[in-house]
Amino acid sequence: MARELASAGHDVIVLDRKLAPGGRINTVRSEGFLVEHGPTSMISPAPAAESLIDKLGLAHDRIDRGEHVKRRYLVRDGRAHALPMDAFGFFSSGYFTLAGRLRLLTEPFIRPLDDDETVAQFVRRRFGRELLDYVFDPLIGGLYAGDPERLSLSALFPQLKRLERAHGSIIRGVLAERRKGMGSKFDPRYRRLFSFANGMGTLPDHLMRSLSGRTRFGVRVEAIEPLRGGGFRLKLREGNSVSSLRACGVVVALPAYAAAKLLQRLSPEVSYALAGIEHPPLAVAALGFKAKDVAHPLDGMGVLTPTVEQRNVLGVLFSSSLFRGRAPEGHVLLTAYVGGARQPELARLPRADLERLVVEEARDLLGVRGEAVFSSVRYWRQGLPQPDIGHHRRIDALRTLEAEWPGIFVTGNYVSGVSISACVDAARATAARADVRSRTDRTDSNFVATA
Ligand SMILES: Cc1cc2nc3c(=O)[nH]c(=O)nc-3n(C[C@H](O)[C@H](O)[C@H](O)COP(=O)(O)OP(=O)(O)OC[C@H]3O[C@@H](n4cnc5c(N)ncnc54)[C@H](O)[C@@H]3O)c2cc1C
Repeated sequence: MARELASAGHDVIVLDRKLAPGGRINTVRSEGFLVEHGPTSMISPAPAAESLIDKLGLAHDRIDRGEHVKRRYLVRDGRAHALPMDAFGFFSSGYFTLAGRLRLLTEPFIRPLDDDETVAQFVRRRFGRELLDYVFDPLIGGLYAGDPERLSLSALFPQLKRLERAHGSIIRGVLAERRKGMGSKFDPRYRRLFSFANGMGTLPDHLMRSLSGRTRFGVRVEAIEPLRGGGFRLKLREGNSVSSLRACGVVVALPAYAAAKLLQRLSPEVSYALAGIEHPPLAVAALGFKAKDVAHPLDGMGVLTPTVEQRNVLGVLFSSSLFRGRAPEGHVLLTAYVGGARQPELARLPRADLERLVVEEARDLLGVRGEAVFSSVRYWRQGLPQPDIGHHRRIDALRTLEAEWPGIFVTGNYVSGVSISACVDAARATAARADVRSRTDRTDSNFVATA
């Protein structure tokens, strides 16, 4: 977004309270392992993000998921079941009961409902309990570290609501879109996971380099105050020193809880609404093992666990299968995700207890025999946003705030959806809004983007 504003001729500065770029994107290299404590991959097609990657000259650094990644694993009855990636193979596999599959076939005859629902209400209503418990629940655990009983369907999967409205049925809708050649969103054959040879950190590193001279790290924005003649004053803290900065426009691109603090003076109601978005804690434990000590072929993306199975991990990614260069020769890297909305208390366990718990799960589900030879843990005290029913009212209130305070623009993963590509889409749209606004108002155009 800052890049777009700068290339449209605006004077931009990016402020971030951390000392390095990336926010949740957090790649660590240690002892020959490459660990992602934050996002691991992106999904193509993602036009805006891929165009950004090309413009940054990173096309050659991109790597696709490993050739051996042929399956996804889901736990049922205490065992990791291998499931094919394609929809037909997936649903005809022995993972589902006959009753569950027959219930699925009734979906086209279920009456559509217009109101927003939780993901759980929607899936139970349209597809039945089994699909909720054994597919959507683990998926929500893997994508959002969330609880489907509390998350809004319209916020997480607006495309499902759209299909229901347009076709009266998800199955009919997906088939119709596939016929029109528009079904790639739902068709794994057209979706490719990718990362970078040196990990996801490549993207923010290059982005910041391309903004050279327009970034300040280690600077916390503590307040935004409107100025009488227009524009804003930002109160900044850098270590122990406090300063201020004036700007015609401010783009608030922070997590919801941080944006809530900054928007307090401009709209206490919006601030209160954003502070209400939960961000349960999440622990990420990456463990390296000797390959010979792991019985499982690790021929998939990873394994996800449904809540009903009562495991202690949300899932385990087979990181060294997913992308090359993640573990030294003769070793594998597994990355476990613990806590989230399902078991927040586990994300606060001391490191040794957390590692023990993950190793126990890895032994049980993947036949890991030896001890871990490498470990790297990161605790996210506030993990991912959990948009609940009524979340759209928060987004409407944000747009009202932008209209009431010309020059203020708000974006972030609670606005767009958590994936990096959704964040890039939203950042682009925000830059376009800011550009148009400043041209319409004929204001000077110095922008501060946090972060
Ligand atoms: C464990 C984990 C795994 C994930 N896996 C994936 C994945 O595989 N694929 C995917 O697409 N997405 C994934 N995500 C989601 C994705 O990483 C995030 O949604 C996305 O990176 C959020 O970007 P953002 O810029 O909105 O927020 P952030 O990355 O949180 O950035 C916000 C920035 O604001 C700064 N900041 C906060 N307060 C202030 C302040 N007062 N003043 C100045 N600066 C401030 C912070 O320092 C930070 O740099 C994952 C997330 C997590 C946590």
